[in-house]
This record gives sequence, C-alpha cells and structure tokens, in this order.
Amino acid sequence: MREDGAPNLPANSCGDCGLCCKLMGVTALQKPTGKWCRRFSKAGGCAIYDERPDDCRVFNCLWLLTEALDEGWKPTTAGFVLHSERDGARLIVECDAARPHDWRREPYETTLRRWAAAPGQEVLVFAGSRGVRLGDPDALVRRV
Ligand code: SF4
Ligand code: SF4
Repeated sequence: MREDGAPNLPANSCGDCGLCCKLMGVTALQKPTGKWCRRFSKAGGCAIYDERPDDCRVFNCLWLLTEALDEGWKPTTAGFVLHSERDGARLIVECDAARPHDWRREPYETTLRRWAAAPGQEVLVFAGSRGVRLGDPDALVRRV
C-alpha cells in the first residue's frame, strides 16, 4: 500500500495507484473491503504511512511483485487488485464494485482462466462478499 509516489518494493511501483486502500479490508482499522480508507487521499497517498497497521505493511499486490505482469495489469488500469493466499496456490482477484466486470475484459479473463486450469491452482474472483471460483463450470463462492 503506497506512500505518495513511492514504490513499496520490487518489480513495479505503486506510483499513483492506491487501489488496495479501497479494495482490501484492514482489520486493525476496522476498514471493510471495498471502501476507501479514510487515511488515503489521491493527492497524498497514506496519511499515516510510517505508522500504518501491519496488514498494510505486509500487503503487496501481485502486479507490484511480478515483473511479467505489464502495465495493463496495474490495478488502476485493470480495475482489480490481484493477490494470493496459500503460498500462491490461490489467486484472488479483488474487483472494484464500481467496475465488477472489468476482469472479463481481455487479456484478463483468458489469462485468469488459463491460470485457473493449471494443476493445484485456484483462482477466485470477488466483488464484495460474493465471488466465483473459475473453472468448468465456475462455482459461486462467498467470502468467509
Ligand atoms: S494495489 Fe498494488 S500497486 Fe496499487 S497501491 Fe496497492 S500494492 Fe501498490
Ligand atoms: S492505513 Fe494507509 S496503507 Fe493502510 S489502507 Fe489506509 S491509506 Fe492504505
């Protein structure tokens, strides 16, 4: 989660993004998923960057970490934040409820379905608490 204009880490840099500060929940702040954190501003990024909770400190979306994901996968361009659980065995696509179908645009849907078809790989797409597990057929899931 970004500081104003500063990269959190490696392959890519957050730049003007900040979408995780809307789409990800932050337990310590009782911030729900899908609502802008009140510490965030588009002009200044995180107002409490040095004191931000651990949830924010440890979070890096997959676009940030993955050199192979080009600018088209930047969350503000794609309309979703991609992250993982279970050592990467579960990929999660957190969609912006304002743009819930953006993941269906290409090349996203084809790529996500290809990943979902790989052995041992699960891909869940959420918009709020509802989601789908990509497969043949897709299965409805709820966030727990
Ligand atoms: S969604 Fe990713 S690129 Fe955007 S601010 Fe968060 S960690 Fe950075
Ligand atoms: S505390 Fe800062 S880094 Fe964490 S969600 Fe809020 S604005 Fe983003």
